[in-house]
Amino acid sequence: QAQLSLLDKIFDTTVEGIVITDTNGKIEKINPAAQRILGYTPVEVIGENSRIFKSDRHDLPFYADLWGSLKEKGIWQGEIWDRRKNGELRPLQMTITSLFDSHRQANRFIGVFHDMTEVRTQEKKIHFQTYHDALTGLPNRHLFLDRLKIALRHCKKDRKLAVLMVDIDDFKQVNNSLGHTIGDLLLKQASVRIRECVREHDTVARQGGDDFILLLEDISDIAVATQTMERITESFQTPFSVNGKQFFLTVSAGIAIAPDDGTEGDTLVSNADLAMYRAKEKGKNTFSLFTRELNEKLNRRLELSNRLRHALENDEFVVYYQPKVDTRQEKVVGVEALVRWEPEPGTLIPPNEFIPLAEASGLIVPLGEQILRTACRQGVIWHKRGFSVSVAVNLSPRQFAEQTFLATVHDALLDSGLPPSLLELEITETLMMENEDLAIGLLWKLRNMGIRISVDDFGTGYSSLAYLKQLPIDILKIDRSFIKDLPGNPDDVILTATIINMADCLGLEVVAEGVETSEQLQFMDEHGCLLIQGYLFSPPLPADQITELLDKPGRWFREQIAAGRSMDIPYEKDAPCE
Ligand code: C2E
Ligand code: MG
Ligand code: MG
Repeated sequence: QAQLSLLDKIFDTTVEGIVITDTNGKIEKINPAAQRILGYTPVEVIGENSRIFKSDRHDLPFYADLWGSLKEKGIWQGEIWDRRKNGELRPLQMTITSLFDSHRQANRFIGVFHDMTEVRTQEKKIHFQTYHDALTGLPNRHLFLDRLKIALRHCKKDRKLAVLMVDIDDFKQVNNSLGHTIGDLLLKQASVRIRECVREHDTVARQGGDDFILLLEDISDIAVATQTMERITESFQTPFSVNGKQFFLTVSAGIAIAPDDGTEGDTLVSNADLAMYRAKEKGKNTFSLFTRELNEKLNRRLELSNRLRHALENDEFVVYYQPKVDTRQEKVVGVEALVRWEPEPGTLIPPNEFIPLAEASGLIVPLGEQILRTACRQGVIWHKRGFSVSVAVNLSPRQFAEQTFLATVHDALLDSGLPPSLLELEITETLMMENEDLAIGLLWKLRNMGIRISVDDFGTGYSSLAYLKQLPIDILKIDRSFIKDLPGNPDDVILTATIINMADCLGLEVVAEGVETSEQLQFMDEHGCLLIQGYLFSPPLPADQITELLDKPGRWFREQIAAGRSMDIPYEKDAPCE
């Protein structure tokens, strides 16, 4: 009796559903767990055939296998979809066993099962999360590459497919200045717009950050891809709206086509990426197609990158100096150290070509240190000869982020004996914005060492005015792009005048970079910008030629101005205009 009551209790309380039928499937007993899972009361099912639970999810062979296995082995195990009373389907993990009588004849079937719905939902969720981007719900790079692989395999002979790399322009700045919350909302809206510009079966994936990557399958012509990009560009012309405010975003994109530009997924993606960078170089808000020339450019970069590695060991870098002239005092008050790469005598590779490579590879750190030390030593030579010229050295963000950065600067000053007040470090607005917290601390430490800080290429980045007030900045260098079209371009006139005025109000020195003509000089003079750096006075030159310049009397400057641009500019003349 006790045994039976114990078994009953187990039958009633177990979380596993249990249904007992006779060998024809007529239901004899159903426990509370099974009632819950299937949604029936005992009265509704006892005496009925277990067929009432049957769903249409399985075909005949499935049931044939089930019955066959029960007959042969007395057991069947597997996942089965059953229908609840309200019509819903449920995946059940099921074990059906036969009970035998004393003649070894089956006389009962016992189904023991539990509901897998939650497990399946959870699995689906995890699967989704593995292959999708949480913010936008779009496929991620992983899923994209999978789809691309399959699409490449199924690409028909006379058809093509396109990979589009789409990047939102200057999104980092959007994030930095508006905050990530708004940045995220904008990204979401952008993803919807991009999605609306492609066909139903095309893939739009988010790579992370502000990078989207698109797959257009089965297209007849490259024009399908360019038209898609035109649609996207156009759809971005309508401003985005977040919290009642309007924002304008643009995108740059690169397109690679299979099989023309590659037949492997990786190649296509990196070629599209390359084309995208080309679009950025062209001035953003545009797209470009991958081309052979781009590939050659890539190869040249790779080659340079390889040679660069040995260049430092082989002592192939030279530091040139460009004078900074004070037009009132009529003398050179400072120089900027500008590195050149001389792989063999007579060829000079300009910094714009190799600094980005050195930054990417990390070589900029030891290279930057070498430049700093060289410049400090040279500064001391001039100082000892009685010239009071400051030496400005450009810093790359990578150097700045180095743990040992301060110690390096300290060392360079100590080793050379250069008074810290004669050293200027040039940083960019981007450097300040990207390493916000780090920048504030480091800049103050540099200032406390007595070093002066200048903001290079001012006006091309996104520094906020608050920064200029808050950071220990001494000098603003107006970027050459503003000076170039002076005094003819009214926008540049206003901008330059404003920068000079602002610097004045904030008590900062202001330097005009890239002054080439006497008209530009006159403009600067009229607007009260006295510090001039540019070809009008001198291009960057080797140290000994600078020494000659320093020896020249004030008269030289007047002559220089009268002659307009008269210096012979050996290397800069041939320098490719990026
Ligand atoms: P930057 O620091 O803004 O340097 C000014 C650039 O403008 C120099 O180009 C200089 O030769 C050029 N320039 C000066 N006056 C004129 C002019 O009147 N007309 C024209 N057309 N150009 C003028 P450079 O030497 O080719 O350097 C380019 C950039 O490479 C520099 O821009 C700087 O960002 C980077 N760079 C150069 N040397 C170093 C270095 O030692 N370390 C780091 N991190 N970057 C460097
Ligand atoms: Mg500079
Ligand atoms: Mg500059």
